[in-house]
Amino acid sequence: MKINQNYNTLEKSYLFSRVAEKVAAYKQAHPEAEVISLGIGDVTRPLCRSAVRALISAAEDQGRAETFHGYGPEQGYPFLRRAIREYYGSFGVSVDEEEIFVSDGAKSDIGNILDLFSEENTVLIPDPVYPVYRDTNQMAGRKIVYMRATKENGFLPMPDPAVEADIIYLCSPNNPTGAVYTRRQLQKWVEYAKKRGAVILFDAAYESFIQEKSLPRSIFEIEDAKSCAIEFCSFSKTAGFTGTRCGYTVVPRRLLREGSSLRDMWMRRQSTKFNGVSYPVQKAAAAVLTNEGLAECRENLEVYRRNAKRITDTLDAMGIWHTGGKNSPYIWMECPNNMTSWDFFDDLLSRGAIVGTPGSGFGENGEGFFRLTSFGTEENTAKAMDRLRRLF
Ligand code: PLP
Repeated sequence: MKINQNYNTLEKSYLFSRVAEKVAAYKQAHPEAEVISLGIGDVTRPLCRSAVRALISAAEDQGRAETFHGYGPEQGYPFLRRAIREYYGSFGVSVDEEEIFVSDGAKSDIGNILDLFSEENTVLIPDPVYPVYRDTNQMAGRKIVYMRATKENGFLPMPDPAVEADIIYLCSPNNPTGAVYTRRQLQKWVEYAKKRGAVILFDAAYESFIQEKSLPRSIFEIEDAKSCAIEFCSFSKTAGFTGTRCGYTVVPRRLLREGSSLRDMWMRRQSTKFNGVSYPVQKAAAAVLTNEGLAECRENLEVYRRNAKRITDTLDAMGIWHTGGKNSPYIWMECPNNMTSWDFFDDLLSRGAIVGTPGSGFGENGEGFFRLTSFGTEENTAKAMDRLRRLF
């Protein structure tokens, strides 16, 4: 037999495994140190009360023959798809329930969606960016073209008419840079995709962090995006579902390529390879989208916003260049004293017992930058900022 040799082209260690290894080694050598992580993008606020109540009540349902739920619809229960449709409506986007697919999170869908596309397609990926886009395409052996996200273009690369791409990844608000595309910029991407017959894979996992009303939370706020884009979203960061697992993908009916409906292909793919998200989790996700649930989640988001402000205020006071943190949980800073990303990582860990994420781990244009997240507790974030100030 033959294995998929493309796996041998992947970088040996996934970014966060390397971070975890270095942190483990440091802790072993310094068991007394209180290490604070502002690194990996996991949340610290627990599920909101509405979600917990829904989980408990759904678990009770599962324990009674009259209310027991077995296999559910692969696309997600209508009660959740309706709630997601209404959520989109709350910021002026109209999507059809038949276009919404509930999943166990954005990461799986972002990887699985590639089943719909030929391996001969060329993929356009921003650099730096969430490494899953690159790795999933590398696993399939697709040709990848990178677009430079730099300080000069505000970490928001725009289409280059000379570049021929079939699949385009956009992540806004961006992980790791925190940059957010404006409507005009997304309009340009939609025009480019339409002209080329390309498909935009739009990752909106951090849309709920957008505070400025003028910034788009969904690519479907752009006219005609429904003929050229698929959107991925998640309850992970909005509602602390990183360990509970629920997300959704919107594949518009109008999205056709080579005479086929990508929405119908995705339905076929999901009903063949996926058996849906558990009933209690979907109940909890629907509870998040009630007025009460959304208000509770906003309180958690406020905690992260306060953390982000504390981090950016500290960097400002230290005269360190940074961006993000306003409409995003990520703060993207320049490493002090011209250090490389990994040198700064090692320095911060060894002298301050603070963990962040080296920018170069997200792509070569991330070299010299560093990602901090606002997902820590308020107490730890304050402590980490005190230490940072004393170090530099
Ligand atoms: N998309 C981006 C940009 C992310 O940063 C993450 C997680 O960190 C995900 C998707 C994955 O989200 P989920 O937990 O829904 O799989």
